[in-house]
Amino acid sequence: MPNIILLGPPGAGKGTQARRLVEDRGLVQLSTGDMLRAAQTSGTEMGRKVAAVMAAGQLVTDDIVIGLIGEKLAEGGSGFIFDGFPRTLAQADALGDLLARAGQTLDAVIEMQVDDEALVDRISGRFTCGNCGEVYHDRTRPTSTPGVCDVCGSSDLRRRADDNAESLRQRLMEYYKKTAPLIGYYHHAGKLFSVDGLAEIEDVAKSVARVLDGAKGA
Ligand code: AMP
Repeated sequence: MPNIILLGPPGAGKGTQARRLVEDRGLVQLSTGDMLRAAQTSGTEMGRKVAAVMAAGQLVTDDIVIGLIGEKLAEGGSGFIFDGFPRTLAQADALGDLLARAGQTLDAVIEMQVDDEALVDRISGRFTCGNCGEVYHDRTRPTSTPGVCDVCGSSDLRRRADDNAESLRQRLMEYYKKTAPLIGYYHHAGKLFSVDGLAEIEDVAKSVARVLDGAKGA
């Protein structure tokens, strides 16, 4: 099973496409953002440590997220979707080492291209189901019954603390400064594929599928 990275700014649709790939292909989603939010909810020391940094839209330190991913890869298996990781060149180097140690390769990096205006709109209307993780949007993808998740029926619908205009501005700045250089890094490694992230969810999913079906190991 292929190991892939979904790369793109906040709101590009990485999580939505990752969930599709989990369902359609049985891949395993590794979202450092989800892991960090889970650490906050369960009140671990690490969760407390990173809460303010995340709320402000800044990146948590490399060693924390590299540690989280290292633990997952040490459990074995393959077919990982790295969602929101790596976000810095140091994390990209570390991922290469971790995969090599696990006897795994990186098959494709899929860059989801979007523009900033669309991101503000997507992020400001976004909410998710706290139970199953389904992603919704006030205008473009509301629940069929207000307040109830279409997928699992839970009424635990949540908005992220960092999905506000101020945090988003900071998250975008972090993306362009620290994460966007990964586009060149993976292009140089011959692993980069770009898709139009502004297309409809179905069409983006088709573009992603085409990349995976063409990439080695898929
Ligand atoms: P996400 O859910 O991917 O948008 O991540 C939410 C927040 O978690 C980010 O704004 C960062 O504060 C933190 N975070 C998630 N993944 C990483 C990472 N790979 N490196 C540093 N910080 C991260």
